Amino acid sequence: MALYVKKFGGSSVANAERVFNVANIIVDDYKKGNDVIVVVSAQGDTTDDLIEKAREINPGGASKREMDVLLTAGEQISISLLAMAIEKIGYPVISLLGWQAGFNTDTNHGMARIKNINTERMKSELDKKRIIIVAGFQGINKYDDLTTLGRGGSDTSAVAIAAAMKADRCQIYTDVDGVYTSDPRKVKYAQKLDEITYDEMLELATLGAQVLNNRSVEMAKKHNVELEVLSSLERKPGTIVKEKVKMEKILIRGVAKDTDVSVISVIGLKDNPGIAFKLFNALAQKKIEVDMILQSVGRNGTKDISFSVKRSESENAMKTIDEFKENLEFEDIKCANNVAKISTVGAGMESHPGVAAKMFEALFDNQINIQMISTSEIKISVIIEEKYADKALAVVHDAFFC
Ligand code: ADP
Ligand code: ASP
Ligand code: MG
Repeated sequence: MALYVKKFGGSSVANAERVFNVANIIVDDYKKGNDVIVVVSAQGDTTDDLIEKAREINPGGASKREMDVLLTAGEQISISLLAMAIEKIGYPVISLLGWQAGFNTDTNHGMARIKNINTERMKSELDKKRIIIVAGFQGINKYDDLTTLGRGGSDTSAVAIAAAMKADRCQIYTDVDGVYTSDPRKVKYAQKLDEITYDEMLELATLGAQVLNNRSVEMAKKHNVELEVLSSLERKPGTIVKEKVKMEKILIRGVAKDTDVSVISVIGLKDNPGIAFKLFNALAQKKIEVDMILQSVGRNGTKDISFSVKRSESENAMKTIDEFKENLEFEDIKCANNVAKISTVGAGMESHPGVAAKMFEALFDNQINIQMISTSEIKISVIIEEKYADKALAVVHDAFFC
């Protein structure tokens, strides 16, 4: 007998037929004598629809606390419906909200971190031989207020349960049959991977491959929880995410696209020591995360600094710099939202010169201009115009995989 943690994303439970399909997958493992804990997301586009409802009331101004009260409702619907489907098939089941399942988080509404899971309730339900259905993406903070874990956070809920309950398997069921070398919905020749390391998956997820939430991969690595990403619609093996894979040090494991990016350019800064410090210190104090940075060559005693941030942070970043205008002394500040980031990821690129050149050549061949570049041992990222993002993803992918 084993303990399985299974997570089903929004599209896997989008309608009644899909809910019964998921119920049958769960029951099949339960019937074999296994314990099963299930994490579900809100049905289909429910979370987006709820966000839209909040915008109708207070565009951009709703408090994060009330947003969390609203958004946790999406998962409350899907856990009850899935539990009802399992009841209908005739198996013992109970649905639990995040707080009932023991999810204690910090107080950071909208992006809360799990502090611990009190596993007592889940253990006692398993003792009663019940299938447990847990609402993903949510918890409760020390003030007994509802919190959410950030978009795509149900993956993290599942990994956290697998770690806390010492599960034998953590399976992330979704609408594709595994992790691919790029988004299979956008890139025709994307290839399915049998295995991928935590580190590579973490980079891909952070750089825009939403098939797994990056915090979930981080947590899986920390607690050594092996993950399987697989389809809820077809019954076949998926992709295993783990510490070490057989095909060690393959050159490139995948190519990802991220459109949640803006580039801010501060123009005509004084070309003096300490200017970069002042600028990025002001942003750091407001907890604004800066990704790529580009500094121009100085001219006539001035220079320009451009940097990228998450698009949702761009307004805040512009405001922050403007507040420091007197201290910083610059001529102008601009924000470009029509940009995207394309990244290649692979543990093997460290020992293979020429990866960057190959990536840049593919972009050049398609007349796609590179605005910024950043590299690390296992990734190369470029910023380009957003309108070329899907094309760039495909041509860079095909340069390495076709
Ligand atoms: P869920 O609702 O199940 O959480 P998501 O929409 O969050 O599903 O993630 C699955 C989607 O991730 C796929 O439909 C696919 O378009 C996208 N995706 C992006 N990059 C990749 C990749 N490298 N491999 C597989 N899927 C990817
Ligand atoms: N329902 C939440 C979202 O859409 C959480 C999740 O899907 O993992 O982001
Ligand atoms: Mg997801």
